[in-house]
Amino acid sequence: MKIGIDIGGSHIATGIIEKNGNLKAKEIRDVEIKSIKTEKQAQKFILDTIESEINDLLIKNDYEIGDISKIGIAVPGNPTETAIKNTVNLHIKKFEIAKILEEKYSAKIKLKNDGKCAGYAEKNYGALKKYDDCIFLCIGTGVGSAVFLNGELLEPKRNPGFELGHMIIDKNGIECNCGNRGCFETFASMKRFKKEAIRKLKLDKNIKSDEMQKYIRENIGKKEVEKLVTEYLDNVSIGLANIINIFEPEAICFGGSFSYYGDIFLPRLKENLKKYIFNKDTKYELVSAKLKNDAGIIGAAEI
Ligand SMILES: [Zn+2]
Repeated sequence: MKIGIDIGGSHIATGIIEKNGNLKAKEIRDVEIKSIKTEKQAQKFILDTIESEINDLLIKNDYEIGDISKIGIAVPGNPTETAIKNTVNLHIKKFEIAKILEEKYSAKIKLKNDGKCAGYAEKNYGALKKYDDCIFLCIGTGVGSAVFLNGELLEPKRNPGFELGHMIIDKNGIECNCGNRGCFETFASMKRFKKEAIRKLKLDKNIKSDEMQKYIRENIGKKEVEKLVTEYLDNVSIGLANIINIFEPEAICFGGSFSYYGDIFLPRLKENLKKYIFNKDTKYELVSAKLKNDAGIIGAAEI
């Protein structure tokens, strides 16, 4: 069996993956961002969490360390195959984690960008299975992505590339985590949507994501809510139209918390996109992710 690990900004999830991307069991621990102030603390936290999760999984599922053939790790940013690199949230510049884990588990360790891992899982086992030319967009706190043409994941030689979230939409826009202004991510992230919803609908600034989802769902008939959603989706449409014009995908799959609003967002988005796409008669499907939060773990193990 393989182990898949998804290191996110808010949690670290680890799972046992058996044949055909089948997730047998998983363990999730929250990341206490506030207690991590230095790179050293982050490194220790990540290692301790991974070891404890793997240990629990092995015990609960009757496996031994020797049964692990591979450990795949999905991480944000641009990792190398062996090191986590430049994660702003976790204060990490470069952490050669593969060597440390290799000594302990004597299994093959491989790191990969999290958007690519989740996209790979959706392409092979989830919502994108039947498409050759397709795109995975993970819209959550940021925007991650993976592009497939003729069934193959596109991968440049050096960095992971395909930073669709950092395509600049407005050079005078708000500042992005990457240092530029007006990146697609600054318009399309669910962080932005939440911020705008709180401001325009005068919601409690500490509203939880599931409470907000409930509010939007119950009030979508109201003019101000529809306006907020329409404005947000118009911004998403601009970036998405650029992506469609470049890759001519048969389908685009949406992961991250965006996918929880699929029934509200996707029909409106499809209608609005007509304004911006180049080939007006091009046909494409907009679909919600099927594997949801498990896509990262499954993809990390299988890619
Ligand atoms: Zn950016």
